[in-house]
Amino acid sequence: MKNPVQYTIVPKDPVAHLFEVTLAVPAPDPEGQVFTLPAWIPGSYMIREFARNIVRIRAESAGSAVPLKKLDKHTWQAAPCGKNLVLRYEVYAWDLSVRAAHLDQTHGFFNGTSVFLAVQGQEDLPHVVDIRRPDGDQFKAWRVATALPELKAKRYGFGTYIASDYDELIDSPVEMGMFELATFKAHGVPHDVVITGRVPNLDMPRLVADLKKVCEAQIALFEPKSKRAPMGRYVFMTLAVGDGYGGLEHRASTALICSRNDLPVKGQKEMSDGYRTYLGLCSHEYFHTWNVKRIKPDVFAPYDLRSEGYTTLLWLFEGFTSYYDDLMLARSGLIDEAAYFKLVAKTINGVLRGSGRTKQSVAESSFDAWTKYYRQDENSPNAIVSYYAKGSLVGLALDLTIRAETRGRKSLDDVMRMLWQRYGREFYAGAGKGVAEAEVEALFDEVTGLKLKRFFERYVRGTEDLPLAKLLAPFGVEWEDKRKNAKPGLGVRTAKEGNDCKIANVYEGGPAHLAGVSAGDILVAVNGLRVTAANLDGLLSRYRVGDELVLHVFRRDELMAFSAALAADDLPQVTLTPQAKPAAAARLRNALLEPQAV
Ligand code: ZN
Repeated sequence: MKNPVQYTIVPKDPVAHLFEVTLAVPAPDPEGQVFTLPAWIPGSYMIREFARNIVRIRAESAGSAVPLKKLDKHTWQAAPCGKNLVLRYEVYAWDLSVRAAHLDQTHGFFNGTSVFLAVQGQEDLPHVVDIRRPDGDQFKAWRVATALPELKAKRYGFGTYIASDYDELIDSPVEMGMFELATFKAHGVPHDVVITGRVPNLDMPRLVADLKKVCEAQIALFEPKSKRAPMGRYVFMTLAVGDGYGGLEHRASTALICSRNDLPVKGQKEMSDGYRTYLGLCSHEYFHTWNVKRIKPDVFAPYDLRSEGYTTLLWLFEGFTSYYDDLMLARSGLIDEAAYFKLVAKTINGVLRGSGRTKQSVAESSFDAWTKYYRQDENSPNAIVSYYAKGSLVGLALDLTIRAETRGRKSLDDVMRMLWQRYGREFYAGAGKGVAEAEVEALFDEVTGLKLKRFFERYVRGTEDLPLAKLLAPFGVEWEDKRKNAKPGLGVRTAKEGNDCKIANVYEGGPAHLAGVSAGDILVAVNGLRVTAANLDGLLSRYRVGDELVLHVFRRDELMAFSAALAADDLPQVTLTPQAKPAAAARLRNALLEPQAV
């Protein structure tokens, strides 16, 4: 191997949450080597400026210090120094999420984007990393989980791992600690399930059996004939905490965080809401192995991690992944069709709730993810639409349209397979071509034989509501909106703040908005009766639509009084019910929800 970039990472002081990283560059740039840390991590579209966690950094060569100059917030340049430049720095790791790095006495976790400076100009060389055990008897039983191939290490052991380039290095997070571990094969490929955190009586065999079904269904979706997975090995790494939820996709692994009570308990057979949510999250991140890690928008091929990468296509890469995550649970037999359509109805109600959907299209929401979806505030329901939620409904609407109009000959699966064959399958084999924005719509028409331009104009680039009631009918699924029975309300979402009732969001055009109430106000009384975090619904239940109420609120420390006319809570309450079905609807619905024979 010619002059690989070499890192050593040591959990040097778990109590102070410090990793120490040593970076050796055998052949630095003679003009002065430049080093840079990413400003964002792929999959999470927000500028995070990871370099702010570098505490101390110095350089040396042949035993002498080499001056380092800071060029911008995440870039350093070493003075010209001949051979064997060594950089040493500490990284503060105290972010309990899947996006950065975390270290204490219970475990260590890092993404390469938080800890490994890129050696500018050498990103395509092999990158070797020596992962060291922290000092002390209490860490003797720690193991390592990562999708990186071992160079000089036993599987799950400390030692040296290798990445073919910088992109693979930072796409392979590392977990270390005393985790629970199980392994299964999906269509012949080994998959590890790693659970860190205290989870009494975890039913690992059930978790493994369920994940295997989901993984095999997804592999078969993209490669129905060969059943060939895109990676040689895969790692699910989960940190279980008291209360948490999140996941981030990588090319051969995923980092997840969940509530420990969402994981299955020995002896329990039913599908709890929490466990279904966790399986849905695993299914989502696993689907990204194809959709976004290999089929990518061209702006991510390659990534520019110094600044925002703008694409209008996140409705496809995140939205369709959200469409397929629950659908694959149904197709794997883990949930039944009634449960599946209940989840779809929940998404529909969430999207219809905010007037932001009439102002921002999913294409615009994708483009502005950096400043809007990822940086939401109290006005977000009135200003933006989620490319995840509405994007998943775009996926459903397209799938229903294609299946109905081609009488079941084609489906969204065929479109995904074509994207896979054309852009994804060879992505890491040197092809490396991303999907251009203009190619997407043409590809839909090519695969399905339909003319879908109007659909994209209205529902992807435009802000119209998807005609799902109409599209679901031929599938024998009944849409009903029960909002006419709604109770009177103020058109707000409230949040508990200590004992106080805080107005979290004010929905545009609702009674609170018309009366003068603002998000952030503390609601203290309704018609002279004290409001607490717990009793607002009870107080309002004694009134009828049209009743005038005096609301007292504190805005900052100023008491204000407003008069509000109660209105029927206009929030959508859509239910979807699969009906006993005529033969044509049965065929369509079965094809949607059951494993496809191809
Ligand atoms: Zn996602």
